[in-house]
Amino acid sequence: MASKKYDFLVVGAGMFGATFSRLATDAGKSCLVIDKREHIAGNCYTENVEGINVHRYGPHIFHCNDDDIWAFVNRFAKFNNFRNSPVAMHNGKMYSLPFSMYTFNQMWGVTTPEEAYKKIEEQKLKLDREPENLEEQALTLVGHDIYHTLIKDYTRKQWQKDPKDLPASIIKRLPVRFTWDNNYFNDKYQGIPEGGYTGMFEKMLEGIEVRTSTDYLADRSFWNKQADQVVFTGKIDEYFGFQLGELEYRTLKFDTNIVASENVQGNAVVNYTEANVPWTRIIEHKHFEPGGRKTSSSVITKEIPDDWSREKVPYYPIGDKANTEMFKQYETLAAKEPGVIFGGRLSEYKYYDMHQVIGSAMSKFARLQGG
Ligand code: UDP
Repeated sequence: MASKKYDFLVVGAGMFGATFSRLATDAGKSCLVIDKREHIAGNCYTENVEGINVHRYGPHIFHCNDDDIWAFVNRFAKFNNFRNSPVAMHNGKMYSLPFSMYTFNQMWGVTTPEEAYKKIEEQKLKLDREPENLEEQALTLVGHDIYHTLIKDYTRKQWQKDPKDLPASIIKRLPVRFTWDNNYFNDKYQGIPEGGYTGMFEKMLEGIEVRTSTDYLADRSFWNKQADQVVFTGKIDEYFGFQLGELEYRTLKFDTNIVASENVQGNAVVNYTEANVPWTRIIEHKHFEPGGRKTSSSVITKEIPDDWSREKVPYYPIGDKANTEMFKQYETLAAKEPGVIFGGRLSEYKYYDMHQVIGSAMSKFARLQGG
């Protein structure tokens, strides 16, 4: 490799790395981006299978309220007008998500917001303090029936933890609405890049040197010499050689199949909320394109929770007490690490959405510029 010294070595070509290196390059800095995977785009990566853009690492639906973040991503892609409206299957019955008048109607036959309020009021958990965990939060928000049909077993299956041991914040991601509106997100900007995320990342990284299949941690002293500063977006515990212990992550198996059917489930996302179905949801990728892509076959992916171990792909940080405490200790180490910027879902150990990762990269870069 040439002896060129870069301003930044960016470890990871996912959302944090791609955003940071774009901003730095636009500001006249030089970046070298490396990624141990054989492709860019991190977990946003999409690939074309039978003419369908398949989200290889799970569904990614872009949504945000921030004008600057929306303007930023629109530099690199045209977004379609996809709106996420998942349905949940429980004992052969379908329920609309998020929790809205559709769900209340399917659950109890109620037809007005007043009747729905009354039903929830009758069965919700009443606390004289803030809910302390996911179960309490869910029971105070939607009451017994919805919790036991749509939340409890799904959450336990998905996180492999009792909802009593999970943070309340996880369930607050979902809106509860007393209107006939089944849009999963409240944000004013929503959609998916036309042509898939990989093309969007190619544009973000245009003119920037990128090396895939390149593992930073396998030879970090060599890589550190290539740049003045390092931007690290991998697992923070791994960066520090697990010296304070191992953080846990939620991992999954993706079982993807091409099916000889034009339309398998009629929706992009169907959740399976029963304990005895091994997968949490089935994704039918063509429906991420409004109207569904016109192909005679379809690609579906079952998401199956898997036990965590350090050689598996980390998808979600786990925000319980033990992991949060351990992360704080790693964060203290990170603050003392000279010339290294830590960012993204794995380095900040946060259940970030894509737009939040972009926001984090923007603010970390601005801070560096004295902004
Ligand atoms: N959730 C649930 N039942 C559902 C969908 C979601 O109980 O049918 C809960 C579950 O605890 C989950 C959380 O809501 O972890 C957040 O769901 P979200 O769809 O935001 O998860 P993601 O898409 O990030 O996997």
